[in-house]
Amino acid sequence: MFEKAQPLLQSYFGYNSFRKGQEQAIRSVLDGNNTICVMPTGGGKSICYQIPALILPGTTIVISPLISLMKDQVDTLVQAGIPAAYINSSLSYNESYDRIQAAKLGQYKLLYIAPERLESQEFLEDLKQMEISFIAVDEAHCISQWGHDFRPSYRQIQRMIQILPQTPNILALTATATPKVREDICTLLNIDERNTIITGFERENLSFSVIKGQDRHKFLLDYLKKNDKESGIIYAATRKNVDQLYERLRRENINAAHYHAGMGEKERSHEQERFLTDEATVMVATSAFGMGIDKSNIRYCIHWQLPKNMESYYQEAGRAGRDGLKSECIVLYSPQDVQIQRFLIDQSSDRSRMTQELEKLQQMVDYCHTESCLQEFILHYFGETETDSCGRCGNCTDSRNQIDVTKEAQMVMSCVIRMGQRFGKTLTAQVLTGSKNKKVTELGFDSLSTYGIMKERAAKDVSDFIEFLISQDLIGIEQGTFPTLYVSPKGKDILLGNTKVLRRQTVQVKEVSKSDPLFEALREVRKQIAAQENVPPFVIFSDAALKDMCAKLPKSNEEFLQVSGVGEHKLQKYGLEFIQAIRSFIEDNSDYQTQLDVEPKAPKKPAKAIGDSHLETFTLHQTGLTIPEIAEKRNLAISTVENHLLQCVREGLEIDFSLLIPDSYLPMLEQAVENAGRERLKPIKELLPEEVSYFMIKAFLSRK
Ligand code: ADP
Ligand code: MG
Repeated sequence: MFEKAQPLLQSYFGYNSFRKGQEQAIRSVLDGNNTICVMPTGGGKSICYQIPALILPGTTIVISPLISLMKDQVDTLVQAGIPAAYINSSLSYNESYDRIQAAKLGQYKLLYIAPERLESQEFLEDLKQMEISFIAVDEAHCISQWGHDFRPSYRQIQRMIQILPQTPNILALTATATPKVREDICTLLNIDERNTIITGFERENLSFSVIKGQDRHKFLLDYLKKNDKESGIIYAATRKNVDQLYERLRRENINAAHYHAGMGEKERSHEQERFLTDEATVMVATSAFGMGIDKSNIRYCIHWQLPKNMESYYQEAGRAGRDGLKSECIVLYSPQDVQIQRFLIDQSSDRSRMTQELEKLQQMVDYCHTESCLQEFILHYFGETETDSCGRCGNCTDSRNQIDVTKEAQMVMSCVIRMGQRFGKTLTAQVLTGSKNKKVTELGFDSLSTYGIMKERAAKDVSDFIEFLISQDLIGIEQGTFPTLYVSPKGKDILLGNTKVLRRQTVQVKEVSKSDPLFEALREVRKQIAAQENVPPFVIFSDAALKDMCAKLPKSNEEFLQVSGVGEHKLQKYGLEFIQAIRSFIEDNSDYQTQLDVEPKAPKKPAKAIGDSHLETFTLHQTGLTIPEIAEKRNLAISTVENHLLQCVREGLEIDFSLLIPDSYLPMLEQAVENAGRERLKPIKELLPEEVSYFMIKAFLSRK
């Protein structure tokens, strides 16, 4: 049966070859084995059940934990031409009923359901009447109490399997590797542990880094401004942190959304929607955000504070770059956060887990301090031994010069000692810079020998430097009503002149992805289509597919089909629009060269702005010419002219629709739109005679 898999991968998903582990997982399923598949986030687990679903008879049931995301998952399949649906509590009774009936008639290859559904006896009865030969359990770690997202409803899965007449095959999928969780999944779902498919955990397109001893507000703002076209997530520890950061970003005119468990359900899903549809580029959130988020074009994931352990860190950071394009994962490390995390663990009631949690936190701190490869550190943590350094992370690529700052460090530390090791960072910086602040004089610190010894520097600067000394463990922080500074044993060594203190220059912010005018233009086309189809843009094409279009510059259907991520169905639906966009871009920018994410060989020429060829078309349109006439006159393809006119409509130019749609079609169009709704083109098209083109429908819908 496996011979069928490869052609399906090509025709539905547009990919040439399977990734690591996908083939084995599919083979194991097709051989009739219950199987568990452990792959990192973004590894491509969905294909492992979607391809068997296409090959096996009947319907595949997919258990998926989050109802808010099912729609995207199903939309992605439908966009690829695969009949699929979901059933969850967001549907009305009638909608669910219709879908259940359709499922019983075998109209779907895949049916997604939330685990809570399985609590309903009625629903189980419905399932019995469907032909189910295969069940995929996504985010399978939810079944285990040892996992980080235990969901009691997942325990219903066993019951479902028992009552189904066909005893279907099972594939469990997860990104959580801990042996305990794996064991649990296998026991509970009756999987022979020998049928475990597990790939390495390295994420070859992610580069990890830790920023420490540096002003994190400044770093973050610089970063967001430099990468303002890309999507990213910023994780903060508490709801309050999220709200504050969010406000701050908004004040800076950064297009941000926010998300935490303290917000209402409605507001949360609205904010999530804004992020998924690329309307907001940055999501500021607590760890409540993200499980199962399939948005593939997330280019960076920044942790504003130290995460509480490596497991959550890798899971959260792993949401970047699912499409396989270069992405960044950054921790903004500040030593105070360690104290805060310790405090939070201390406060938690569960004493038995405290020691373990403190240990895990310590490993996270070690990660932030290691000078060797960060990706390797992570792999070792998860038990991989045969690893190499990645060559991409902040440590592997660090070429900053080191400056000897021993003298300055000694100045700061002797000042801390002279002040009795009882005060905080701000006051210490004020004393060092010779501030006339009342508190400084009242305490008599203006008579210390260290008063004003750094007066040529700004207090903020000195404060940052103290931060750096803290990050190097030379100065420690005593938590109390106010955090106070003290000199650590390691710091005392420096004071004695036994060792030197070296500091690297601050890390300069870079662009994660090189900007490319054609890529931007295609993103725009994708966004328009997505809005018309009412799905998030990444469901239409991934960023990786758009990048591949920029590299291949397809001019025909055959060439378009060569683009990674383009299958037959998407070629039919969107080929024209993208090929046209690429053509007209090349026409206007004959000197265009793809800005691939490789080191530039030669200096690049600045690209011209996207042209205004459509305005020329518009002028001819105003003289009353029909589309074929304009096409002939301008020597352009009809579809190019059509696209020009649609662009004119978008730009609010006055278009004479009677030249675009024959009057006789109008009643039909009206009827079809009324029956199928305005959201999607395909259902409308299906209600109309063949000769009514997608273009006519689009033009019809865009009339005011
Ligand atoms: P996971 O569920 O493991 O986190 P997904 O199934 O969401 O990962 O896949 C991540 C991305 O990789 C998706 O954009 C998907 O289209 C892409 N992908 C999956 N398999 C392949 C493949 N064989 N070749 C190229 N891209 C793939
Ligand atoms: Mg997945």
